[in-house]
Amino acid sequence: MAADSNAVDAERAGAAVRAAGGKALFGMGLEELRAVVEGLGLKRYRAVQLGDALYKQRVERLEEITTLPVALREELAAQGYGVGLPELVQTAKSVDGTERYLVRLTDGETVETVWMPGGDGGERGDGSEAASEEEGEVGDAEDAVEVRSHVSEARRSPQRASSLGTPRRGAPALSQNKYGDSDSSHPSEQSSPGTPASSQNDASRGARQNDERDLGGYKRATICISSQVGCAVNCQFCLTAKLGMRRNLTAGEIAGQVAAVLNRQQVRIGSGKGVETPSRINLVFMGMGEPFLNYDAFMRAVHVLRAMGIPESRMTVSTSGILPGILQFANEPVRPKLALSLNAPNDTVRGEIMPITRKWSIAALLDAVRAIPLGKREYVTFEYVLLGGVNDQPEHAREVLALLQGMKAKVNLIVWNPGPGIEYRQPTPEAVAVFHRMLIDGGIPTFTRRPRGRDIYAACGQLKRTLSEGVAEPGLVGIQPVA
Ligand code: SF4
Repeated sequence: MAADSNAVDAERAGAAVRAAGGKALFGMGLEELRAVVEGLGLKRYRAVQLGDALYKQRVERLEEITTLPVALREELAAQGYGVGLPELVQTAKSVDGTERYLVRLTDGETVETVWMPGGDGGERGDGSEAASEEEGEVGDAEDAVEVRSHVSEARRSPQRASSLGTPRRGAPALSQNKYGDSDSSHPSEQSSPGTPASSQNDASRGARQNDERDLGGYKRATICISSQVGCAVNCQFCLTAKLGMRRNLTAGEIAGQVAAVLNRQQVRIGSGKGVETPSRINLVFMGMGEPFLNYDAFMRAVHVLRAMGIPESRMTVSTSGILPGILQFANEPVRPKLALSLNAPNDTVRGEIMPITRKWSIAALLDAVRAIPLGKREYVTFEYVLLGGVNDQPEHAREVLALLQGMKAKVNLIVWNPGPGIEYRQPTPEAVAVFHRMLIDGGIPTFTRRPRGRDIYAACGQLKRTLSEGVAEPGLVGIQPVA
């Protein structure tokens, strides 16, 4: 099991970065930055300047750190230091606005990161601040972010704007969701389980989303981050599992995906002064890999991301059920929200689709989750990928209800996304509707996740490193180098 080989993976990751010949500053905490500047014989306050440049300004090169004297920047470079942000080397754009990036790390390994303008609906009903906004409430302005107008950016800096890709104004509306679930910002639409939304609702939602774009940006967006190159957990419905496990990411590589995507999307996180389009960024650790099998780097990344201005209340980590990780997570003074990939109503079914269940049973996982001290408004999310004929029947819904009885739980239903080489079939819309309604009627807040980026293999479980292998999967569209 990968948990046992964690230390080896971490060591391999460190060795790989060292072999690449660079010392990445991005990802270092203040103490480490202090050690760097003191090693160069400089005053400690230089570490704060360095941190501000890395995490507030999100510089990409040492030359951009203008608060440091040129001689100091040259000295850092001479010592082998660099910013070390991961590089977005290719992108695929979906008709629904989702962008999937192939992200190259310093040793040449690649992972994938996904940008979902408008969010992915995953926060709904979890009682958090992010959820309130998903449901149409107005939040505080403190951590508002700006999604700059590409037009105004072009006026300010034509060169930079053109290097950052195609403006999204006029992008097509989100595709209609045949499951009628969660592509809405109004709670009443959410609480109509199993009832496909009317085409009128879809149309008005599409118009509203286009209005947002016409204002020059999105109100909010979600970034899905990878935590490992490949994954060892081997969930049978997941394309990433087909890659096997290659190595852990460092904290800088995990948080650096967010910095690289925000830079590409020209998003500035700030207090609101000069902000043209107040927007929010939510983060989900749901990309390639199992975050709790790379626990220390994941938690360090959380702190780096907070330093970038994204509060932990806007982050959700998803685990397949790594018991030691959940126990450790429960004791963290600062932590994101938790999502547990349940995916089955009992150990027999779960063991078939998620072999890790043979190591840690559902009962053990739920006991560990119950021990997490939740905030007043906090719920634990249970993700449930619906596989046609496997786990999507009414008797399964009844078992899930029994499992979650008495817990502060909500359920995110995810209609399985087909992928090459995986034999499952999608559930019927009727089965999804019945399952959804049964959970709601049983008292569990339930949301069916909006499928994002299905046409570019970017939706949940569809991340696969096909591009790096030089083989485009059938169905991949819009592959183009990032300028
Ligand atoms: S679903 Fe997540 S934990 Fe399971 S194999 Fe895929 S990436 Fe790994």
